[in-house]
Amino acid sequence: MTAVPQQRLLRTEIPGPQSVARHRRKTTAVSAGVGVGLPVYITRAGGGILVDVDGNHLIDFGSGIAVTTVGNAAPRVVSAVTRQVADFTHTCFMVTPYDGYVEVCEKLNALTPGDHEKRSALFNSGAEAVENAVKIARHATGRPAVITFDHAYHGRTNLTMALTAKARPYKDGFGPFAGEIYRAPMAYPLRWPGGSEACAQQAFDAFVDTVHTQVGEARTAAVVIEPIQGEGGFIVPPPGWLRRVADWCRQHGILLIADEIQTGFCRTGDWFAAEHEQVVPDLVTTAKGIAGGLPLAAVTGRADLMDAVGTGGLGGTYGGNPVSCAAALAAIEIMIEENLCGRAREIERLFLARLHDLASRYDVIGDVRGRGAMLAVELVTGAGDLTPNPALTAAVNARCHRAGLVTLTCGTYGNVFRFLPPLTAPDALLTEGLDIFESALDAARADH
Ligand SMILES: *Cc1c(COP(=O)(O)O)cnc(C)c1O
Repeated sequence: MTAVPQQRLLRTEIPGPQSVARHRRKTTAVSAGVGVGLPVYITRAGGGILVDVDGNHLIDFGSGIAVTTVGNAAPRVVSAVTRQVADFTHTCFMVTPYDGYVEVCEKLNALTPGDHEKRSALFNSGAEAVENAVKIARHATGRPAVITFDHAYHGRTNLTMALTAKARPYKDGFGPFAGEIYRAPMAYPLRWPGGSEACAQQAFDAFVDTVHTQVGEARTAAVVIEPIQGEGGFIVPPPGWLRRVADWCRQHGILLIADEIQTGFCRTGDWFAAEHEQVVPDLVTTAKGIAGGLPLAAVTGRADLMDAVGTGGLGGTYGGNPVSCAAALAAIEIMIEENLCGRAREIERLFLARLHDLASRYDVIGDVRGRGAMLAVELVTGAGDLTPNPALTAAVNARCHRAGLVTLTCGTYGNVFRFLPPLTAPDALLTEGLDIFESALDAARADH
């Protein structure tokens, strides 16, 4: 099959007639609980382009939520998967093991922060990895409590819903939730009541106060942190905050679990976002970008913690499926050989120049933030008023979609526009996407 040209091409309106028909069918077959951001039905993809049933070629600024970091259907991933699926599809690693699983664990142990001895275990989804990290932390420390933050997102299973902050839609009507989860204030510079300058110190003090007064250090097994928050709004804590939290946890024997599911695998310009602060977490959860689009997740951490769990305490039927492992090994090779961490930093420069210029001309952009190719603008009322503007955000998003740019929003207040392009997308495609975003912002601004 020939490669998909890295160019936008619109043959119909978006969504086109074929997609509209399919979406009607979807509503009679698929639970309404499974939402769809842009109802165009995809038949093919390559790199940073998605091809729909109407023959439209859309620019992908979402990477299927930070998954197709190496590009969609990356040729090296496709051939590794094709080879593996023909050799064998499944054995269950817990029944009869195979090399791919062990090799992925070796890669994770080498690539995650810190040069201490590590072990890994593989799972199917991000939520499952976070659940297992909490299991391991509780088992290894013998302590029950887990600290999470405002605006956190860690998944949709029962334990991870408890860790996740946002009620609607993630938790609405789904309780009761898992116990022994406590929430601390997040260092969110734009919205910190004492101002962004005071945020690092005051947010750290508030975190310590939460643990000390509401939980007790000696009862606390772990603190779960996204080094840059994802679904909660691409919130980048101020420099020094993560370092201080990590140091304080170490003093009290509390484990630091870095949830790098969205930030990991070159996305922020480093292999893992904790590296930016020279923080070495005790446990790291990964998923999303790890395997070029195939489902795979992992917990990687200190060997003494990972090995503390009783044999048979971790695992699952499909965890570390051989096809997913083959995909991960190929995706990691691409990241190394094509220096995708460096590419993420180039993308950061390209995007930030444009986004800061836009922010100087449009006062509805209340903040420009992010690192590498994990970037966002927060849309507000404007004229100095930082009230979140979810209506404008939705309007810009809808206009981008109609123009053939697949974009995502996020944020507790639904007012953050996020950019997560594949790291292999060429500059011309990224620039065209940014042009579309600018036109969409300009037109939506006139209406709101
Ligand atoms: C997406 C995400 C999860 C959940 O991953 P799933 O594979 O959807 O279960 C957990 N944590 C973070 C930070 C995420 O971005």
